Amino acid sequence: MIRKVLTEFSYVPAKLDRGYVNKTLYINVSDYKISEKPVTEMVKEKFIGGRGFGLWYLWNAVTPETKWDDSENEIIVSPGPVGGITQYPGAGKSLVVSLSPTTGTVVDSNVGGHFGPLLKFSGWDALEVQGKSEQDVVIFIDGNAGLVRIESLPELANDSHLLVEQLTDYYACNEEDKRSISIISAGSAADHTLIGMLNFSFYDSRRKAIRLKQAGRGGIGSVLRNKHIKAIVVKFAGVKGNLNNPADFNKIAKTGIKLHKEIKNGDDKQCQMRVRGTTYLVKIMNDYDLLPTYNFKYGSHSDGEKITAPHWVERFDLGKADGCWYGCTLSCCKVVGDFVLKTGPYQGQRVIMDAPEYETIAGVGSNCGIFDIDYIMECNFYCDTYGVDTISFGTLTAFLMECYENGILDQEKTGGLELKFGNGVAVLELLHQMSRGEGFGKIAGLGIRKCKEYFVKEYHADIDFLNDIGMEAKGMEYAEYVSKESLVQQGGFGLANKGPQHDEAWLIFMDMVNNQLPTFEDKAEALHYFPMFRTWLGLVGLCKLPWNDIVPEDNNRTAEPNKIPEHVQNYVDLFNAMTGRNIDIDEMLRQSERVYNFQRVFNLKMGFGTREHDSIPYRSVGPVTVEEYQSRQDRYDNQLVELLAYNPEGKSTADKLQVLRNYREGQYQKLIDAVYQRRGWTEQGIPKIETLQALGIDLPEVIAVVKKHLA
Ligand code: SF4
Repeated sequence: MIRKVLTEFSYVPAKLDRGYVNKTLYINVSDYKISEKPVTEMVKEKFIGGRGFGLWYLWNAVTPETKWDDSENEIIVSPGPVGGITQYPGAGKSLVVSLSPTTGTVVDSNVGGHFGPLLKFSGWDALEVQGKSEQDVVIFIDGNAGLVRIESLPELANDSHLLVEQLTDYYACNEEDKRSISIISAGSAADHTLIGMLNFSFYDSRRKAIRLKQAGRGGIGSVLRNKHIKAIVVKFAGVKGNLNNPADFNKIAKTGIKLHKEIKNGDDKQCQMRVRGTTYLVKIMNDYDLLPTYNFKYGSHSDGEKITAPHWVERFDLGKADGCWYGCTLSCCKVVGDFVLKTGPYQGQRVIMDAPEYETIAGVGSNCGIFDIDYIMECNFYCDTYGVDTISFGTLTAFLMECYENGILDQEKTGGLELKFGNGVAVLELLHQMSRGEGFGKIAGLGIRKCKEYFVKEYHADIDFLNDIGMEAKGMEYAEYVSKESLVQQGGFGLANKGPQHDEAWLIFMDMVNNQLPTFEDKAEALHYFPMFRTWLGLVGLCKLPWNDIVPEDNNRTAEPNKIPEHVQNYVDLFNAMTGRNIDIDEMLRQSERVYNFQRVFNLKMGFGTREHDSIPYRSVGPVTVEEYQSRQDRYDNQLVELLAYNPEGKSTADKLQVLRNYREGQYQKLIDAVYQRRGWTEQGIPKIETLQALGIDLPEVIAVVKKHLA
């Protein structure tokens, strides 16, 4: 392959000490400057790692004026101090942080695969990439040789499944050496859309194939391609179980063994993640009226059964346990070994790929009115290789379909695409157009928020209707759960710092199904504890699934079973055993609160982060249309009677819709008040100075931003 080395940087790879290398790698692709930076004790104390490190380094890189496509914007990848261990399940996660093209402010996205751990073993706690190259470049980090290069490799493919094969073959010395390589890439659609995502590769030696995991949310793949970075490659040979050099290895091993046993004994009786991954969720969501169908209008469908776990397992032989990092016995990733593509540039080719997660099945499937697993697989493959976030793409496409069915769009405007619900052929063509940067795909690729503006300006669409049905908040497309009957989940989406992603708070069952959060105080407490707890996993480099997709046998006998107390204690033990510190559960939450409040202030710095930015589309709160109301008329009529003493007899659906809407919108505002109070924020959603002081995140630059907003 033709190669030109543009710059080279040598370093002495340092060993980890208690989970940290105490150095980060900085690369600027504008001027090809490469340097190392020390990690100070203050940064470790206040930001821990992972998402915390990403937020801190980005904060220092950008000004309030910086836009996502300015060269100052950075992409930061950091695994966290516990990340990379092989003794405890789910320890291979990396957090990626950047300014988002769709929200305009800071976004974080977590991802499995081997990049984060290999980066760390190569001698770096985080990678900071800034600048914008004039030509496509590859960044290559060799953690054994102590070498970083920026190179031009002009013959590389665009799409991830080809690109990672080329690069793995190129940088590996032999078959065995492929295990040492992990690559970050995007794809051709990330060149042309704002919903681009990042693929993180790793070599599956059992299958002798390269697999991809995704950092999907927030459009960071679009940022990568805007910087003209084709790929970031890390190579490190010699992964062993003790490379993090923990303070107490035996304690980590003991904690891990306990969970391994629990998974081995319990997974078959519980979620069966090892044999069916997150596909098991489809049936549960459909049964509880939570599976988005037809752009979140409804929560279930008579065809929902066709995309449930047994069909995936039978059709694609998903039974093998596949992890995304060494030592994850929960092994929820499911691999499809031989799928023949039916459309697009790779039509007829046989590919290996990870099977879709629940979010993808619901997003590109049921939410678009499509209940065909072969279509969902095809769509999943192309989203991945083109570098498009399946959640954003699914939610966006469902919105476009509703616009089409309401006459806001037609075939003339879509260039011939018949974007009706259920039309998988049109969806795939839309995706192919995104990859080519052509036709209606180019407009759609702007994401829901910008599409709304475009439809109002160009087609004179009704902005109120678009705001009601466009399932985005803060500019990010919704994750795939219907939240209409769970006020807490409405807050879980609306109050999330980065936008409506469920990795902050997923509380539908506690709230709606089990009715465990009856008062506003209960709701606010849940919307405090769970986002803080989940944030912590992203600080240290851990996957959320082994926390609550498997639970100890006696969990239900504990005082707070929803928190899985034994697992929370495991995490405290892991952190202490890794770092040699002695935190308790309260301090663990305070670690998260510091970073969480810092992220809120970061949003303020960028011109967001106040109450108005926590607003949500009415479709996520209640029924927007007459047909929606009538589809669950008994439920809504009963609520009018029971909650409002309003007699629906003889009233028009339009009248009832409005009364219900007034009530539900009022409830959401009350929820915001309660949550802000619990979090120590003003009624405008600004962290109070005393809150920041009490948490120890009262850095002068942080206080300066807050004071400006309080003034
Ligand atoms: S539970 Fe699944 S996603 Fe999480 S680390 Fe294990 S294999 Fe990866």
